[in-house]
Amino acid sequence: MVVMKFGGASLKDEKSLKQISKIIKKRIPEQPIIVLSAVSGVTDTLVRATNQALVNESSIVENINQLAALHRKIVAEAISSPPIRTETQEQIEILLSRLERLLYGIAYTGECTPRTRDLVLTFGERMAVHLLAGRLNTISCPAKALFADEIDIVAHGSWGLGTADLEQIQCLLPKHLDPLIQNGVIPVITGFFGRTAKNLPITFGRGGTDYSAAVVADAMKTTQMEVWKDVDGFLSTAPEITQDGHLLEYLSYEEAAELAYFGAKILHPRTVEPLMVKKIPLIIKNTFKTECEGTVIGPERFTHKQVIKSVTYDKEIAVLRIYGASVGYQVGLLKELVTALSDCTINIKSVITSQTSINLLIDRKDLNEGFEQLTQLNLDFVDKIEPVDNIALIAVVGEGLAETSGLAARVFSTVAKLGTNIEMISSGASRVAFYFIVNRPELEKTVKSIHDEFFNNKG
Ligand code: ASP
Ligand code: MG
Repeated sequence: MVVMKFGGASLKDEKSLKQISKIIKKRIPEQPIIVLSAVSGVTDTLVRATNQALVNESSIVENINQLAALHRKIVAEAISSPPIRTETQEQIEILLSRLERLLYGIAYTGECTPRTRDLVLTFGERMAVHLLAGRLNTISCPAKALFADEIDIVAHGSWGLGTADLEQIQCLLPKHLDPLIQNGVIPVITGFFGRTAKNLPITFGRGGTDYSAAVVADAMKTTQMEVWKDVDGFLSTAPEITQDGHLLEYLSYEEAAELAYFGAKILHPRTVEPLMVKKIPLIIKNTFKTECEGTVIGPERFTHKQVIKSVTYDKEIAVLRIYGASVGYQVGLLKELVTALSDCTINIKSVITSQTSINLLIDRKDLNEGFEQLTQLNLDFVDKIEPVDNIALIAVVGEGLAETSGLAARVFSTVAKLGTNIEMISSGASRVAFYFIVNRPELEKTVKSIHDEFFNNKG
């Protein structure tokens, strides 16, 4: 068995729906299980529709019409068999009308709890699985659309940040999928969310379909998992920085996880977690260039001659800097800060402390809320809290990095030659990665020069 995950980048319109169906059809002997995310842009529309419903009821019709038009067009052009087309269209209309009623509920009550928001966000995936199952059935590949919350993808945690219960899923999921697979029916499962113990849908965070697919691969003990995208795989650096980057043929689980954590948009950072136990290999493939080998991610670790495999960056970060003469010395202070932020579901990406300051690295979108939250605490020993914006993080990743002497020196002397000032450094937390923070305007040239130094040394 193989799990194949297709995301929004592979599912934009009728043409791409046909393309992914063709890819799946060729793989039927391997018993594929499909995990699918919403059509490109749909989750963003749902986020916007929810926010707009809170302030302006008339936005609802417009947003529903937009989603309806997008999906109806794909059905009309990609599903030629009349009975399958009618059935698919009906299923999508049912979902649209449920969604519309939910949005009116939000508009009338003037509130949207995190729980309701999660429910609204699942509609993109729910519509998408009907599109793909419809198309597969049209080209004589029997397939069935399945909603994750109806097939026991059990999860817990805060709304918007769910964690799958792997043990329960291992027990329950095969009961739903095995009979289908034995009858030659391809399961087409919604990614991005599961259900709580109380049967309510809970999402895994934006981009969470990769994680869903890994959870399914683990539960079904598949031989491999594939993530199909619109790029070739992991590169030695982002194409926005330089076209000189090369494709990485192989990465260890840790390397891929750190690259994703530090900004490489290619994979959800939690994807490898469920795969590591059974050592299931993950392959990144290009939907529109199937002949490309892609990147394989697996349990073996290899150290390259250059050690560093990739230089990545994250522009969407910020720092909350907490000053006080003895903050580094106060037992329990860090706990209070962390609790205050986690109470409003702000995730801390990294912490660097000293005697006189504590630096909390967070997502930029959380900066204002986090700043207000910590300021309200009015903590003893804290003189000042400063929100630091306009910065960016650069990370270098590679097996062997922690054990290789002179490597950090080589990175930092390259940075120094450019005149880029380093605001903060963190190393040692991961065996395969370290990162540092620079001022935002210096980001691109700094990443490019490190990449040149290691991969394109022009002397
Ligand atoms: N559709 C969801 C999102 O856009 C989940 C995913 O794409 O993996 O975040
Ligand atoms: Mg998406």
